[in-house]
Amino acid sequence: PLKDPGTRRVLLKLSGETFGGGSVGLATDVVRRVAHEIGSAVRQGVQVAIVVGGGNFFRGAELSRAGLDRARADYMGMLGTVMNCLALQDFLEQDGVTTRVQTAITMGQVAEPYIPLRAIRHLEKGRVVIFGAGAGMPYFSTDTVSVQRALETHCDEVLMGKNGVDGVYSADPRTNPEAEKLDHLTYTDALVRGLNVMDATALSLCRDNGVRMRVFGLEEPGNVTRALLGEKIGTLVTT
Ligand code: UDP
Repeated sequence: PLKDPGTRRVLLKLSGETFGGGSVGLATDVVRRVAHEIGSAVRQGVQVAIVVGGGNFFRGAELSRAGLDRARADYMGMLGTVMNCLALQDFLEQDGVTTRVQTAITMGQVAEPYIPLRAIRHLEKGRVVIFGAGAGMPYFSTDTVSVQRALETHCDEVLMGKNGVDGVYSADPRTNPEAEKLDHLTYTDALVRGLNVMDATALSLCRDNGVRMRVFGLEEPGNVTRALLGEKIGTLVTT
């Protein structure tokens, strides 16, 4: 049984890398585990919206380097995100969580269209809303969409789930042994120092609108639930 949804509303970004477990297609064991962790937070009353990436299927920029038209390749990328949405929806529903998928490109058989007020209503009722097909616009990233959806649906925080890192570092921890994990930084720091948090469009949208964001590693079991509940894990980024 789900508790009444509380007042904490968050937007969780899950990248395609999470869905694919580092390769093409679906790592169903990972998606099942992440869904279960989301369910646990929802049962404790957190309102959860999710933006899903698609890099485990297609990235527009990569396909365009291979000769495809960039905009068409980006649409392929957006369609890939929808498959991830449906997989996550399935595992959440198996876990007893009510969900709705809303896509920025309409496809009535599999999802609702993106209707912000309706998304908010779903969240208020304790349903998890999964946003697919990015912004429906080529040249954008799902990171940027995460920030936009969080703003439009009045989320308190954006939670960026990462693979391979557990927060933002002063340099790339995979190549630089001196790299230190930062507990807190500002968007301006991230932009000026070129820290690898998210793309510049997403960063400036955050900075200009005072978005509160937490970057955390989702491979550690329990971390998705912890982030959703508001534990101070990873790195906090603010204006
Ligand atoms: N994409 C797009 N517009 C959007 C969101 C995504 O064109 O608003 C395309 C773009 O080609 C991108 C792909 O969809 O490479 C997959 O999204 P993204 O790379 O952001 O996914 P992630 O890196 O999170 O797996």
